[in-house]
Amino acid sequence: MVNTTSVILTTLCVPCACRCRYCLLSWDGRTIGADWARSRAVAGRFADWIGENRPELRFHFSFGYSMEHPALPETLDFLRSLGSVGAEYLHCDGLRIRDEAETEVFVRMLRAHGVKHLNFTVYGTEACHDRFAARAGDFSWLLRLRDAAREAGLETSVGVTLTRENAPQLEALLDTLGTEGTRLFVPHAEGRGAQLEPIRLRREDYERLSERGRALMNRRIWRTEAEWIADPPPEPTQRSILLSLTPENISRFENGDFAAILAEVEALDEAYYAPIPPFAELMRLYGDPAGECFFSARDLAARYQKRWLTEHGLRPYDVTDERQSGSRRL
Ligand code: SF4
Repeated sequence: MVNTTSVILTTLCVPCACRCRYCLLSWDGRTIGADWARSRAVAGRFADWIGENRPELRFHFSFGYSMEHPALPETLDFLRSLGSVGAEYLHCDGLRIRDEAETEVFVRMLRAHGVKHLNFTVYGTEACHDRFAARAGDFSWLLRLRDAAREAGLETSVGVTLTRENAPQLEALLDTLGTEGTRLFVPHAEGRGAQLEPIRLRREDYERLSERGRALMNRRIWRTEAEWIADPPPEPTQRSILLSLTPENISRFENGDFAAILAEVEALDEAYYAPIPPFAELMRLYGDPAGECFFSARDLAARYQKRWLTEHGLRPYDVTDERQSGSRRL
């Protein structure tokens, strides 16, 4: 039995200045989300409805692709009024590049509007990162923003994607980034992330890392396939429902059909997962007990689940595609 514990309402209406090689949202230069003003109005009503009718659910309103919202200060205030996590924790990838003076103003504005933590993603040393993010100057801009944020007393964190390709650069990268607030992660295979499969991190790459490098990877989250098979994760018992506002569906939300919309997306989640055997069985079917590639439990489960669906000729609505309404099982 999987219970819904949270609802994320989102609109992908804000462009991103990068074009990362592994983009979960497959950003291609064209926004697909509903108009901001209409989405904002829906979010306010949805939050009220949740408070009155489903108070057990956590509710968050968010936007993407990047946080470069044309009215960011007011938007942060609005997110805070709804209790959304994005009001305090800002993903800073894909923002417009600012010079030093503009960066200081930007950071002061964020702080004044209640932001507490800035998070960045780095893909390798400077040239490699800029190539991966498809923007010259992105690496130095992220460092400038991070340093300005620290100066202003904000918390910061950097996630470093780790692949076969960039693992040999890690020492040089850590010399630049430092280790405080730096964490390593293995990129997922969602969206354009599927293109990174040939360079997925393997045990031998991990073992070649220095001690300080290995210490930055949470080994409870990132394990080899063999390690997951030897010590399987529990089956998910909770899910988050993602409602993606688009020009096509927003009028339904404006009509206040919230209970029906939520029930429909929950039904899509059930329809997707119901025919698929539990993870433990998929592991017996497909797992390689000597598998040396690193995965999160979720990424490995998704890999087996998609394979099972393909082998059984099933093509359900893909609730795992985060560009559209769907679910995230936890
Ligand atoms: S910054 Fe984020 S949204 Fe933009 S291309 Fe990169 S991964 Fe995609």
